[in-house]
Amino acid sequence: MSKLGLYVHIPFCRQKCLYCDFASYASSEHLFVPYTTALCQQITDQGGMLRNLTVDTVYIGGGTPSILPLSLMDQIVASLRASFTIEAEAEISMEANPGTVTKEKLVALKTIGINRLSFGVQSFDDQLLSNLGRIHCTKDSYLAVEHAYAAGFTNVSIDLMYGLPGQTVHGFVRELEQAVALGTNHLSVYGLKLEEGTPLAVAYERGLLGLPDEAEEEAMYDQMTAFLPAIGLVRYEISNFARPGSECRHNLKYWHYEPYVGLGCAAHSFLKGERKSYITGIEEYIKAIANGDSPIAMKEILTESESMAEFIFLALRTVQGMEFAEYKRLFKTDFFSQFGEVLSKLKRQKLVATDANRLWLTERGMKFGNLVFCSFLPD
Ligand code: SF4
Repeated sequence: MSKLGLYVHIPFCRQKCLYCDFASYASSEHLFVPYTTALCQQITDQGGMLRNLTVDTVYIGGGTPSILPLSLMDQIVASLRASFTIEAEAEISMEANPGTVTKEKLVALKTIGINRLSFGVQSFDDQLLSNLGRIHCTKDSYLAVEHAYAAGFTNVSIDLMYGLPGQTVHGFVRELEQAVALGTNHLSVYGLKLEEGTPLAVAYERGLLGLPDEAEEEAMYDQMTAFLPAIGLVRYEISNFARPGSECRHNLKYWHYEPYVGLGCAAHSFLKGERKSYITGIEEYIKAIANGDSPIAMKEILTESESMAEFIFLALRTVQGMEFAEYKRLFKTDFFSQFGEVLSKLKRQKLVATDANRLWLTERGMKFGNLVFCSFLPD
């Protein structure tokens, strides 16, 4: 079995961004301590059962993990180390909001063992940040990255967004240049999605929000996919670019169909073909753990055809694509006999390409990935 990844969910944010529908909550500081206690209990319980597996990646995400007081983050990391078999060379990532870190805090995070930071910068334009309801400004992002390097971090990622209200193609290119100028070795770049019920989606439905049109958004995408590889940030997944060797090892596990265990409210796990997720609400999660009840909200074993589709489209998100031999090893059947017709159609549409060993998305396929992914879903 592959080595295990751990995902730890910290569901707190200082304020809710206007586009966000993640499991994150503002004004919940009173739950920091009880949540950490419950989380550490779950870590102990799960670790006891999985001690025989070696962990090589840990990802602390949210929410905004960086708003948790250092003593609590220290407690969580110590609990992970005490309960799981974590490799000395494991990648231990933490998401951080640039508006929530100081130089001292970053030094302390490095000391407790965090060795990769992912900063939710999203934009280098203060007006755009304000349009999104972010709590930080551009100056915070510059300082946060600078302080991270000064603290000894060498693995620093930046998240950016495009297709934002008020954003122009020229402005976005400048933002990409600013990210690169900071010396980051990893960039995740996502297009804005209007999630139902969020304030931004509501404003859009009411005609109160101007967004770049489709052609402008496509131009932003094209600029990004041309510019970043040209300066050495190689695309390795639809939305992710890295200097060779700096790819996020934890996220690669998801796309490579490898096992991971989620810890904390709203976290997901994938282990031995079973997917499960935990209760979304913080208080409900704390109560379940305190009462010794199961915090599981959903558990499912995918059917064979669902597993096949999932394996294919997760692999296709990566530039490397899907290996036919790996498909055969996992599902004991030949890819071509099952998906030969689908494959021919997608090739005619110039969405995918193959050689003797692999299937991958073309540039066009990367842009219209959903068209490809749907083709492999069971009826
Ligand atoms: S910081 Fe991230 S998780 Fe928190 S509200 Fe904003 S987008 Fe959502």
